[in-house]
Amino acid sequence: MKSHSKAVVIGGGVVGCSVLYHLAKAGWTDIMLIERSELTSGSSWHAAGGFHTLNGDPNVAKLQAYTVQLYKEIEEISGQSCSLHLTGGVMMADTPERMDFLRLAHAKGRYLGMDTELITPSEAKAMFPLMDETNFVGAMWDPVEGHLDPSGTTHAYAKAARKLGAEIVLRNRVVELTQEVDGTWNVVTEQGTVKAEHVVNCGGLWAREIGRMVGVELPVLAMEHMYLLTEPMPEVEEFNKSTGREMIGVLDFKGEIYTRQERNGILLGTYEKACKPWSPVNTPWDFGHELLQPDIDRIAPSLEIGFKHFPGIEKAGIKQIINGPFTFALDGNPLVGPVQGLTNFWCACAVMAGFSQGGGVGLALSNWMVHGDPGFDVWGMDVARFGEWATLRYTNAKVRENYSRRFSIRFPNEELPAARPAQTTPLYDTMLANNAVMGDSWGLETPLWFAPRGSEPKDVVSFHRSNDFRPIGEEVRATRERVGITEIANFAKYEVSGPGAEDFLNRLMTNRMPKTGRIVLTPMLNEFGRLIGDFTIAKAGPRGGEERFMIWGSSAAQKYHMRWFEKHLPKDGSIRIHRFDQTLVGLSIAGPKSRDLLQKLVDVDISTKAFRFMDFREMAVGGAPCMVNRITYTGDLGYEIWMAPAYQRLVYKAIKEAGEEFGLVDFGMRALLSMRLEKNFPTWFRELRPIYGPFEGSMNRFIKLEKNDFIGREAAAKEQAEGPKLRRVSFIVDAADADVMGDEPIWAKVGGKDYGTVEKPHGYGAPRFDAGGKEVRGSNAAEGGASAVRGIVDGDWRVVGWVTSGGYAHYVEKSMAQGYVPAALAENESAGLFEIEILGQRRPARINVEPPFDPSGEKMRT
Ligand SMILES: Cc1cc2nc3c(=O)[nH]c(=O)nc-3n(C[C@H](O)[C@H](O)[C@H](O)COP(=O)(O)OP(=O)(O)OC[C@H]3O[C@@H](n4cnc5c(N)ncnc54)[C@H](O)[C@@H]3O)c2cc1C
Repeated sequence: MKSHSKAVVIGGGVVGCSVLYHLAKAGWTDIMLIERSELTSGSSWHAAGGFHTLNGDPNVAKLQAYTVQLYKEIEEISGQSCSLHLTGGVMMADTPERMDFLRLAHAKGRYLGMDTELITPSEAKAMFPLMDETNFVGAMWDPVEGHLDPSGTTHAYAKAARKLGAEIVLRNRVVELTQEVDGTWNVVTEQGTVKAEHVVNCGGLWAREIGRMVGVELPVLAMEHMYLLTEPMPEVEEFNKSTGREMIGVLDFKGEIYTRQERNGILLGTYEKACKPWSPVNTPWDFGHELLQPDIDRIAPSLEIGFKHFPGIEKAGIKQIINGPFTFALDGNPLVGPVQGLTNFWCACAVMAGFSQGGGVGLALSNWMVHGDPGFDVWGMDVARFGEWATLRYTNAKVRENYSRRFSIRFPNEELPAARPAQTTPLYDTMLANNAVMGDSWGLETPLWFAPRGSEPKDVVSFHRSNDFRPIGEEVRATRERVGITEIANFAKYEVSGPGAEDFLNRLMTNRMPKTGRIVLTPMLNEFGRLIGDFTIAKAGPRGGEERFMIWGSSAAQKYHMRWFEKHLPKDGSIRIHRFDQTLVGLSIAGPKSRDLLQKLVDVDISTKAFRFMDFREMAVGGAPCMVNRITYTGDLGYEIWMAPAYQRLVYKAIKEAGEEFGLVDFGMRALLSMRLEKNFPTWFRELRPIYGPFEGSMNRFIKLEKNDFIGREAAAKEQAEGPKLRRVSFIVDAADADVMGDEPIWAKVGGKDYGTVEKPHGYGAPRFDAGGKEVRGSNAAEGGASAVRGIVDGDWRVVGWVTSGGYAHYVEKSMAQGYVPAALAENESAGLFEIEILGQRRPARINVEPPFDPSGEKMRT
């Protein structure tokens, strides 16, 4: 074994071998994989080997599509077969709601370039005759599904990596990880110590233990999982003989079941409700090529539904039940990327579908390690997406919830209950007493809307407008016409201080930093000129002679942004960044009476001239020391008020008492989001994401190319000079009783005209590699680069873009959507030009360049 290596990958499951292969392919050949036992000794050897491309996150779906396409490549390079069976598969809907879900998935699939098709239950039965089709109302066909040999596939990655120069060391456990002052890792193993620049945790079932070696508790948990194999079945053999085809894969939402042909019989797996974590606290190091004891009672309820839906299977004898553990993160997607707070410590773990996702994970991580950027929008699997609140117990509750609902529909207004409440603000009980329906915002309980007195504060989950529609409308109208108050503790808040803080922020941000007492809005770009942040920044008065800035941003991106800030901090420690998390909480008041209300609670003049739009002041509110921003996301006259948690109840009570004479109402996060829609304001992670450039995102006025050399400036200047190909726009949609949710296709009546440049980007900027290891640039659908939407044509209509978010704008009484379309169409407000697909129905839509509420912005400036 070598004593030095550029990178050590820990773990020889399918994921570790894929990471090793992709690193070698990217040109890092001085790398090694260290495996405790033999390859596949974790969960990889007993996997059912199924793969598919569909995923709730379109970007993860794209990386899954890449994985499936990769198998031919590694077979060729390694000479090792993966035993690929590309059978195709169906998802079966047993209720109209599940059919709505499939319509939605099918609509999303259109611009992802996926070839899905909505079919009848009888058509599905023709491909899988063991089902009783009368149990179903419809189905969706996906041709890119199938199964493979898990062990052969893992070895194919490993052999291909070896051929490219990587080393694999077997039967050697990593027992300790320490880091030198210069950043070098000491990878201490049973066979000696390896010095490495980078360490990658691909520990699968032991990923949590490897995390603990560096002081990190990763939110990952193994669950027991069972599938059964039947004896050979004459019906299967007869089908194969008569059609010359294999039976397809079937996914049954109702039973949380998947099934497919395996040799001459059937394989059927369940995600049972009574699910069971495996080794919830510590994974034993001596667990090897073993199976767990099957527990048929646990899966009996799922099997009962399965046998009813697939009576052909019930008749077959059960040959074997496999029970094995594999790992999940809270939301079922992988944990990939550099761990915040550490240097050169990488994760590729919690990959619950290694044979659908392993390739995409390997590609993204190798891009990230070699080129400093994953090259794709990997937020859906970024290890930074969970906070400190994701403790061992929290993870346990959430993973069990996720497992038991593996194939369940998540409605757009559905909040999942497990592990809640986790974090609460001092106002939590008050909000409950006010009949608030609470939601989970990055682990924090946040009021979503207020149910009328006497009614149960609970969402009726639906794809259509629901029981929150009227109350939210009332919250919005009262705020717009009088004044409303809402909690904003769920925003991210940071303080940047120290000599040179302004220069530091000017280097990171696209806008000029404000003068003391003023606020700016500013995007942040990566080196490729793509949007990686959108912030509100205020310059506070100096403390101890040092510059001081307050920053507010997206709550969910706190670790993601801290990782970026830390990467760019000067090494001399002169600049400090403090993330407040819930040590700073907030309230926002908005509406035409908000100034009169606030004036009653402060001892300073806050008239229009004394406290202008976009001013920042530290002042006492109701006797509590606060920071106040004259700005609100409602786009009205309004204020954001920030205080230590100990003062939040005092300030809230003072505002409520003083607000009585103005008809003050409480409003929740959903009313806030409705109000931002009618102002055409974007949201982070929906409209603004790392796949878009700032001019594409219509953020032009915040990009000050002339101010100084900031990160991404050159690429942004190029984007401006060439003109963006896409543009973010707002639509008014002629919707019926359902509004857009995000990711719906946008159609345009463009006749024969080809706006062919319109492709939904998934990848950007960072180099990628073709099958021969040669570097390629530009978008490439096969590698998750972009989705070809231009191919979808219906007469004069074609899909030209996609929705990012939307909903009902209650004050202007219009259904609204935001999304991306070709720049050439972005200012065309003609009626009859656009249609947006909502739940499979194309609804007329019209671009609205100016926001329908207060287009001149006069109200927020008064
Ligand atoms: C019953 C069952 C059915 C499944 N069906 C499917 C399916 O149909 N499709 C699908 O895509 N997925 C399926 N899976 C999930 C799939 O198995 C996992 O997604 C995949 O195996 C994860 O691979 P991995 O490399 O991350 O982890 P693992 O396979 O667990 O590999 C981790 C490796 O790291 C090694 N290691 C750990 N710690 C150390 C250390 N300190 N030093 C050295 N080596 C170490 C281990 O020995 C192990 O070999 C199934 C799983 C089960 C249990």
